[in-house]
Amino acid sequence: MTTKIKVSKAKKSKIKDVDFENFSFGSVFTDHMFECDYVNEKWENPAIRPYEKISIEPSASVFHYGQAIFEGMKAFKDDNNNVFLFRPNENFERINKSAIRMSIPQIERNLFFSAVEQLVNLDKDWIKKGEGKSLYIRPFIVATDYAIQAVASQNYKFMIICAPATLYYTKKLRVLIADKYSRAASGGFGYAKAAGNYAGQFYPTNLAKKSGFDQVIWTDSNEHKYIEEAGTMNIFFRIDNELYTAPTTDTILDGVTRKSIIEIAKNNGISVNIKKISVQEIISASNEKRLKEIFGTGTAAIVSQVSGFQYKDEYFEVKDQNDSYAELLKTKLLNIQTNQSKDPLGWRYKI
Ligand SMILES: *Cc1c(COP(=O)(O)O)cnc(C)c1O
Repeated sequence: MTTKIKVSKAKKSKIKDVDFENFSFGSVFTDHMFECDYVNEKWENPAIRPYEKISIEPSASVFHYGQAIFEGMKAFKDDNNNVFLFRPNENFERINKSAIRMSIPQIERNLFFSAVEQLVNLDKDWIKKGEGKSLYIRPFIVATDYAIQAVASQNYKFMIICAPATLYYTKKLRVLIADKYSRAASGGFGYAKAAGNYAGQFYPTNLAKKSGFDQVIWTDSNEHKYIEEAGTMNIFFRIDNELYTAPTTDTILDGVTRKSIIEIAKNNGISVNIKKISVQEIISASNEKRLKEIFGTGTAAIVSQVSGFQYKDEYFEVKDQNDSYAELLKTKLLNIQTNQSKDPLGWRYKI
């Protein structure tokens, strides 16, 4: 069953104006967007139309109280021009988990899948083939009550926009382990893909950037003792020849890339320990020369390697590895995503 979506096509495509070899990710969008409104307790009037400005009153509650959630997923093209989404069901389930926590109405499966599939299909020329190229898909929901009352909105807008992507973050990252600020607290909404989780981390991240770091690795908000995640990526440590990553809790986002990398590692004979990891354990492993790799995982960059970390006043370097697990796992995952290898777990979703 599919949801009927009204489609109005763009008169002229903007694709010829884009230099696909040289553009800044996240600032170029495809020809169309999806839009649907929640009014009278129902999602109504789903439509795909040319990407353009939307009109919202200044009183819209998202501007005041920040009820906003989003997703990030990708579409890939294989050599025969088949288009695949990667594990879209995970994104569908997660947007509803985020919705519940932020008091936003959930979306029905048919609406989500029909919207994503029809939009991607219409803009499929924007999905380029080859090394790391893809289409980044950004579904999001914002509160649109026109009233500055501090209550959950009754009206919402669900939209999807798409941006062509190549693999970025190729440079290894220098990271700072947080010992003062926190991204999320127990009982809060760190596990939701909510806009506010990002707003709150820009200030401490900018401070870290001023000191020469690329990102912050967040620790638990009680004691700053245990590693959580990198704020846009989940984080893995390789100690000797085993991987370690924190279990997902209410302060950590349950990344699709994280769970995919865990499966791929296990299927390639790499053992993965999902356990609480203290900063002290990482420092000890580094001092004993057993800490071989640190990497982050997320849809945008897939796997981003870390070249070193600072904790309080000390910097610890992570040396390059000849047999990098990060490289291996990234290649294996990309090969599944782009239909260059078997897909034993059924992660590709052809559209
Ligand atoms: C989106 C996100 C991730 C990565 O999740 P993926 O599903 O792998 O893209 C990690 N941490 C945070 C806070 C995120 O918002």
